Amino acid sequence: MAAPAHAAQAATGQAQTYGNYIGGEWRPAASGETFEDRSPANTDDLVGRFASSAKEDVEAAVAAAAEAADGWRRTSAVARANILHKAAEILASRQEQVGRELTREEGKTLKEGIGETGRAVQILRYFAGEAQQPSGEHYPSMNPLTLLYTVREPLGVVGVITPWNFPIAIPAWKIAPALAFGNTVVFKPASLTPLCAVRLVEALAEAGLPPGVLNLVTGSAGAVGDPLVRDPRIAGVTFTGSNAVGADLRKIAAETGTKLQLELGGKNPAIVLADADLDHALTHVVSGAMMSTGQKCTATSRAIVDRSIAAAFTERLVEKVKALKVGDPLQAETQIGPVISEDSAERIAGEVDAAREAGANLLAGGDRPSENGHGRGHFVAPTLFGDVDPASKLGQEELFGPVLGVIPVDGMDEALAVANTVRFGLSASLFTRDLGKALTFAREIQAGVVHVNSETPGAEPHVPFGGMKGSSSYSREQGKAARDFFTQTKTVYIDPPPA
Ligand code: NAP
Repeated sequence: MAAPAHAAQAATGQAQTYGNYIGGEWRPAASGETFEDRSPANTDDLVGRFASSAKEDVEAAVAAAAEAADGWRRTSAVARANILHKAAEILASRQEQVGRELTREEGKTLKEGIGETGRAVQILRYFAGEAQQPSGEHYPSMNPLTLLYTVREPLGVVGVITPWNFPIAIPAWKIAPALAFGNTVVFKPASLTPLCAVRLVEALAEAGLPPGVLNLVTGSAGAVGDPLVRDPRIAGVTFTGSNAVGADLRKIAAETGTKLQLELGGKNPAIVLADADLDHALTHVVSGAMMSTGQKCTATSRAIVDRSIAAAFTERLVEKVKALKVGDPLQAETQIGPVISEDSAERIAGEVDAAREAGANLLAGGDRPSENGHGRGHFVAPTLFGDVDPASKLGQEELFGPVLGVIPVDGMDEALAVANTVRFGLSASLFTRDLGKALTFAREIQAGVVHVNSETPGAEPHVPFGGMKGSSSYSREQGKAARDFFTQTKTVYIDPPPA
């Protein structure tokens, strides 16, 4: 494939060097330094080198975004929508190539990589349409001659900070509404997946965004993320990532007064009642727990199963989990790729060992297949524990890997109590044929995304998405809810001049 014109090429082996995108230009970090991005499936595979930016690069990007803000705010919503539509078409024309790069860079399977890229296209299209929806309300006034209405106006310059696990969909679902509603953006992607960020920004830049409207700065959390969230010209920060970083950002935003949106972790339950279709529940519990190598914020990590069926259900779970094919995510037959990094693999393996030592019943996996012939990748075997204590660390904390624990319970009331006992509240599933129980579950479960008879990760891009309790900052992303974060309300009273 021909190198894109903007990618400053340093022909070291096959790997290209990619710059920041600031003020409409691709350029290296001011220091000229770069960092490497390697495939988690094979660390010999160098995906690319990326600008290792610092505070001065962030300042240049924020300055470009601030300079472009008035012009973009005054651009018609129709013109903004046209650019998003065009970006969607550009990305759609590259879906296969970008999906393959996503898989190489992040490690989810090719089907998932191409699928996620398609989802980013759908998100761009959705927000192109959303840009043209009504953005205010008209009210009656105490004075019948007064024209009284509200309009939603952009915040100004918005900082977008994203994780590696959905490296093109999450940036798209933050950047598309930010731009659609008239904000300019400084985007700091996860350092483990900067190529997907480059591909999204390319599509938007080629679609005709004016210089400075969207800026990309790659580099570490400390050198790029921290100065970005502290910059006084940033009006809003939207962040998806870990609870620990989210807690730090809350403190900073409290000091700076920046509007802050946090989407954080989950410890998502799938409750399986005795009357459920067990084949269907099994398929969805395994897929919810293990696809994307368990690295979805909405992944199922607790199977809460009625005790009367727990033994039979668990036996079949063991078979299914052991049968999952782990390997190179670029190969069509692979179901489970690597986890994102060696740090992650070691952390997960350590938690699995600790759970075992604490008495949890290991039923499948628990090892590191990379040590057994899968090459130089960060592989962790799909792992299943039985009889998990809901109060244990395994029952409470997000592991963010392919690890599922079965918790037997006596009936619906206990299932709900166990499901709600964690500090998170992102997504939850119930498997049952009983409509009354489904309605009770929908009412009582503490989760922002609720499924009945489908897996915990399902989330469509045109409806609100986000968690309760420790899983978010109470705001919602996507769908019509996105406008709430990326705009502020102005209330206008217009009286006729005195006659
Ligand atoms: P992370 O370590 O918190 O990093 C997320 C992003 O924040 C990265 O771009 C990171 O940069 C940056 N960052 C880290 N520390 C920062 C700081 N002090 N100031 C500014 N930026 C900072 O999370 P992750 O490991 O990438 O993602 C996994 C977590 O995300 C899991 O907990 C998962 O559940 C959660 N998640 C939630 C959702 C949701 O919608 N609720 C969706 C997906 C993922 P570097 O990459 O340079 O370190």
